[in-house]
Amino acid sequence: MFLSRCAAGAALVFAGAWSVAVMGDQGQPPRLKVLISVDMEGVAGAVTGEQLGPTGFEYGRFREFMTREALAAVNAARAAGATEIVVADAHGNGQNLLIDQFPMNVRVIRSWPRRLGMVAGVDDNVDALIYIGYHAGTNNTAGVRAHTFSSANLTRVALNGTNVTEGSWNAAIAGHFNVPVVMMSGDDAAIAEVRKAIGNIEAAETKKSLGFHSASSLTPEASAALIGERVRAALGRRAEFKPYRVAGPVTVDVSFKNYMPAEVLAYLPMFERTDSHSIRFRAKDMVEASLIMTFLGEYRIDITP
Ligand SMILES: [Zn+2]
Repeated sequence: MFLSRCAAGAALVFAGAWSVAVMGDQGQPPRLKVLISVDMEGVAGAVTGEQLGPTGFEYGRFREFMTREALAAVNAARAAGATEIVVADAHGNGQNLLIDQFPMNVRVIRSWPRRLGMVAGVDDNVDALIYIGYHAGTNNTAGVRAHTFSSANLTRVALNGTNVTEGSWNAAIAGHFNVPVVMMSGDDAAIAEVRKAIGNIEAAETKKSLGFHSASSLTPEASAALIGERVRAALGRRAEFKPYRVAGPVTVDVSFKNYMPAEVLAYLPMFERTDSHSIRFRAKDMVEASLIMTFLGEYRIDITP
């Protein structure tokens, strides 16, 4: 995501996937609920703000390409036996995906703020989490549009002393609910970074990063085909993926691009100011940490309505 945050979550019921599923004890197909968190920076072809927000000259086209990649994941998940699918629009304003292009039995989570951010919709009933269009973290020297939660406002987010990406942070939230991340798509730097943090998940490399604003990319058609293939592979061996669990309490360090957020937040005893631009807080678990991060990104005294 970019601007003030990235986020994801959504849910829905498939009546159709039963033919490929193994019947359960009561003759019902086994339940398989999949959450797909969709960001945009990692979509094939996306390289600059021209593709990533409503003021960019290519944004309209890239909403279509983002939707195409998300649909590739949806259709592959259904083919792999998903009985319920939720898609979370987790980029920018959270209103990027063209929801009329999704099948009737998918739910789409949109806009912000929302609890659990990019992985809104995750809970104990979700069986697998998939990332589409994800990108590298803000401390990565490679990676197209590398940032963590907010390119405009944050220069570092660390969990228990280790810098996080959106992929590893969201994996820790999902891990709280015993939900494993099974697959991601994005550029080569993003995939390497997330795999290093949470393990060797399935991945679809949509492009190779040539810099912050350049890449050697697959075409949208090739990217969607690869995503479908890797989603099917991931769900086919989903039992091999373990939840990324970070035991509470957790310590979170946040560095701001500007000076004032750290100064003002440090008026609250729950925030320790660790340097001119940084604060630290403790949370009892990843859900509480996520809520505090959401507050840091969303609160303004003139927030409306
Ligand atoms: Zn984004």
